Parts: sequence; structure tokens; C-alpha cells
Amino acid sequence: MTDTLAPRLPAHIVARMTAAGLRRTLATRVVLGLFLGVPDATLTHTQVASLVQARGVTVNRVTLYRLLDRLVACGVLRRQTDHASRSWRFALARDEDAEAVIRPPSFECDLCHRSLWLDAAGSEMRAWAGALLGRAAAQGHRGTQVELAIRGICADCDGVGAGGGARA
Ligand SMILES: [Zn+2]
Repeated sequence: MTDTLAPRLPAHIVARMTAAGLRRTLATRVVLGLFLGVPDATLTHTQVASLVQARGVTVNRVTLYRLLDRLVACGVLRRQTDHASRSWRFALARDEDAEAVIRPPSFECDLCHRSLWLDAAGSEMRAWAGALLGRAAAQGHRGTQVELAIRGICADCDGVGAGGGARA
């Protein structure tokens, strides 16, 4: 296969695919080559299918749908609704489409000034952050980072070790 058919992928795209566990198959590289060749292109599934086929690569319809979905999920492509044709259109994701950074929640002690991560709070934080980012987006704002810090007195400074507290 020549480099024009399946070009080398830019590092940031490879990084996103690797993080998502997406293999760089020939079909994947050919599909991405279509978008990288014309960075402003927005293509429907049908257009992608016929362009891939025109390059002599056979990918069945379901596999191609799945591939496009996975490329959207890992932030390489973005998907928009074409209201006229009532279909999805796919395009290369722009950097501003990247998901907001959601930091794990921290606890900052007012006495010892340590900053502690709250264990296992990541999934709750993502749920809250998603809701808040959605609220911001509804008002036209584009969130890029979400942080939550709780301030107070840590367990060590409070003199109550883990597992302590009031007992009956
Ligand atoms: Zn403390």
C-alpha cells in the first residue's frame, strides 16, 4: 500500500486512537486519509463509503459505521447533523472540540495546607462535571477545564484518624 492511500497519521491523532485502544488498520488509515487530505471536508457515511471504495479498499457498511463512531468517541472526528439530508456528517475534530479536562476533586487543609486527592471520587466528579459543562454549553460557553476543591480541616489535623469518629 502506498503512502498516498494510507498516509502517516499526525501524532495527536495517533495518541487519541492509542488512548482509546483503536487499532490503526488499513481501513482506519484510509478513512482518516480522506479527512486529512481535505481538512475542511464534512462527509456523510455514504460519501466516506464510496471514497474508500474508490481507493480500492473494501469495508462493509456496518464496520464503517462502527469505525466512524469510534473515531468520534476518541475525539479524532466530530459528528454533526445535516438537517437538510437528515444524516450525520463527519469531519476532523478541531482542537476546540476536545473534551474539557476534568481534574479529580481535591481536599485542601486550612491548617497544614496539604492538598489531598479524594479517593475514588473520579466517577462522581465526571457526572457533576458533565452536567455543569452541559449547563455552560446551553448558555453558549465552552468549558475547557473543571476543578473542584473542598477546603477544611484534614483528618490528621482534626485528630480523628481514618475509621475514627463518633461511636455509640
Ligand atoms: Zn491538615
